[in-house]
Amino acid sequence: MNTIGKITVLPKLPPAIARLEELAYNLWWSWETSAQDLYARLDPALWEAVNHNPVKMLRSVRQDRLDAAAADPEYLQAYERVLSAFDAYMDPHADTWFRREFPDRQDQVIAYFSAEFGLHEALPIYSGGLGILSGDHCKAASDLGLPFIGVGFLYPQGYFTQRIDAEGRQQAEYEKIDFAEVPAVPARDPQGNEVLVQVELPGRRVFAKVWRIQVGRIPIFLMDTDVENNAPQDRELSARLYGGDREMRISQEVVLGIGGVRAVRALGYAPAVWHMNEGHSAFLGLERVREMVQGQKLSFDEAVEAVRADTLFTTHTPVPAGNDAFAFDLVEKFFSHYWGQLGIDRNRFMDFARQELPWGPQYSMTVLALRLSGFHNGVSRLHGHVSRRMWRFLWPGTPTEQVPIGHITNGVHTKTWLVQELKDLYLRYLGEGWQEQVQDPALWEAVDQIPDQELWAVHQQRKEQLIQLVRDRLQQQMVRHGEGTRRMDLAGQVLNPNALTIGFARRFATYKRATLIFRDIERLKRLLHDPERPIQIIFSGKAHPADEPGKALIQQIYQLSQQPEFQGKIIFLENYDINIARHLISGVDLWLNNPRRPHEASGTSGQKAALSGVPNFSVLDGWWVEGYDGTNGWAIGEEREYKDQETQDEADALSLYSTLENEIIPLFYDRGADGVPHGWVQKMKNAIRTCAPRFSMRRMVIDYVTQYYLPAAEKHVAFTADGCALARELAAWKARMRQIWPSLQLQAWLEGNSELRIGDGVTVEARLRPRDMAGTDVVVEAVYGEPNEEGDWRAPQVLPLEPVGSEGDALCFRGRLVPDSSGQFVLGVRARPHHPQLVHPYEMGLNLWAG
Ligand SMILES: *Cc1c(COP(=O)(O)O)cnc(C)c1O
Repeated sequence: MNTIGKITVLPKLPPAIARLEELAYNLWWSWETSAQDLYARLDPALWEAVNHNPVKMLRSVRQDRLDAAAADPEYLQAYERVLSAFDAYMDPHADTWFRREFPDRQDQVIAYFSAEFGLHEALPIYSGGLGILSGDHCKAASDLGLPFIGVGFLYPQGYFTQRIDAEGRQQAEYEKIDFAEVPAVPARDPQGNEVLVQVELPGRRVFAKVWRIQVGRIPIFLMDTDVENNAPQDRELSARLYGGDREMRISQEVVLGIGGVRAVRALGYAPAVWHMNEGHSAFLGLERVREMVQGQKLSFDEAVEAVRADTLFTTHTPVPAGNDAFAFDLVEKFFSHYWGQLGIDRNRFMDFARQELPWGPQYSMTVLALRLSGFHNGVSRLHGHVSRRMWRFLWPGTPTEQVPIGHITNGVHTKTWLVQELKDLYLRYLGEGWQEQVQDPALWEAVDQIPDQELWAVHQQRKEQLIQLVRDRLQQQMVRHGEGTRRMDLAGQVLNPNALTIGFARRFATYKRATLIFRDIERLKRLLHDPERPIQIIFSGKAHPADEPGKALIQQIYQLSQQPEFQGKIIFLENYDINIARHLISGVDLWLNNPRRPHEASGTSGQKAALSGVPNFSVLDGWWVEGYDGTNGWAIGEEREYKDQETQDEADALSLYSTLENEIIPLFYDRGADGVPHGWVQKMKNAIRTCAPRFSMRRMVIDYVTQYYLPAAEKHVAFTADGCALARELAAWKARMRQIWPSLQLQAWLEGNSELRIGDGVTVEARLRPRDMAGTDVVVEAVYGEPNEEGDWRAPQVLPLEPVGSEGDALCFRGRLVPDSSGQFVLGVRARPHHPQLVHPYEMGLNLWAG
């Protein structure tokens, strides 16, 4: 064949349905199932083939399908309904929570930085929980009407598609995303020009083009280095999420943090709050320091004060190795041209983010982020505690529970994760408008009114759909493996729609212990093969391509699933993504999660399951410590720590089997005369009622607004006024406090009996010298409470001591402590610097303890 070129002919949208194009470019459709239906109805098979991507759909659908839809009154009616809902949502005067509650905060933009955004399966720029959380965060920020922008990467090859070969090995396939086929458009600056930002990498400049993705009311700006101005290796720099070596990683983080700030500026934003979701973006703080040092002639320390005041950092990793850190010589290579622009030298630059690790000092992105933010949080109550313990070395002498790292427990975006059948059901019982108040526990009380048969029927329907999906996917896999008809037929019959079906799906990181349930394989076989009450398990999940132990776990499960005694009962479903997740969390009967406590920072997949009426069976780690109430699912193991991993695994496995055998299986198979397991359905309802509001993304973002975004925006205004006068003052004050601190002395003692009865008090006396140095800049307080095993306070309470004059060279302080509960308390007295404008009272980590 002789050809002279290629042409692409795209279908043309008939005027009657012309706005399908506009709608395709707003990810509003990603949580509005009715909007997705408009595309799916055009050609259901094609809709599957394009991975539910409306932009690609409109480029590939046949013209006659479009013409037919445009002439179909029923279709047009649905079209009108969806578009009027869309217009109502996008109305600039729409009544949103944030506009209603904070009308004078509309122009205080929050800039949210994340290395990944999990918005929809058609946009594979996420790897797991962190990305899904970012995507859901943006969606809820849109729903609530926050002035909010996201910043991240548009990876041209994204995260990989997982294929399992016939030996059970994970194969990572990267497909180049054609940006013409995803809902992204070039971002434009206020003059209407496309935006190209540049950063300096060793010996060269790298450019990044900025793309814009519209998520309801809010934009996400995503950078891509695959542009002509770049050298070939730099064009590949943002090709893949978490790909490449350390040098690639730090390059990506430079683009994300430093390039990200430059993009925000080029686009014309002046954010009042900066939120770093995980440490990957921590260089953004350095870039902002540079801006102020260069532009406003602040010193490094002054600029740091100004940056800290309006920056929030959320940490996600309780596993030390999960925290990004770089060797000093690598950092030197990338930043030797940069620290001078910050007004500091190499030592100062390195020390600022220094962490001593067993293999030597490292430049820690978490330390950097903690130092460049005045607000910091973990992502569940337990994770807050773990994070305070992990990072307390940055606040020496501070009781662990007073380390200034708080927590906001993660949640999920209800509308994204709830399948249409359940949305319809909840609408019937929770009432019109329920989606706009999902954070309200009172709303969910009505779940108890759903008749058992109705909830069970919807669940059974979802389960059958899941089983169909599994069979289809397995058959596709068999075709790839070159299998014959016998194996194909077997794949078409796997899973029993009446058997108790357990789901386990998440990243295959080893701490998640995917194979724990195989620990006693004979015991598991008995459960799988019980003739009356069988169980079956569906696994799914990707291992990071460089994680050999994680990949070995996948292989192990796959190979077991091929053995005759597990065939059809243990399934490994390949390519876990948002689509598979949505099917699993609503289609299995029980959601299993057995990480090695306390390694799961929060976890969110179990929240999605609970919302869909699938009870959790989980280790008391992450969010489940808060979610579990004895009625809404089951716990594995105890809330404790073990001497070693082997002991922990053994204890958790025993607990898992016995709860499964003695409680879960009997309850599931206890059927009423109508065939419905009423006791089980009650658990389902309890799971929905108790978890849906508390672990909603709406509740989470409201918490971020009230606990962090609003206070940070207030600090922003205070710190930047008058040429950053307050930042300058505070930096000078801190320097003075650090200087006088070593020469202060504190003495303290108790006056009176140390054995008290409830209602009695004891007087605490303290003397701080020298008096002229401390003045009003230091407060003295008693800290007391029950001790924990580590000789620290479990829940320290604070009694401020009153200044009561002076004695010679000393300032005198006194307080009367009247404990309101009985017990053994330990009490300490400390002095700490005090300034009313500190972001957090304990932020300096200067403590002078008496005695
Ligand atoms: C929710 C979700 C996750 C997070 O799962 P966890 O079990 O909380 O770690 C990861 N991947 C996908 C595709 C998800 O939907």
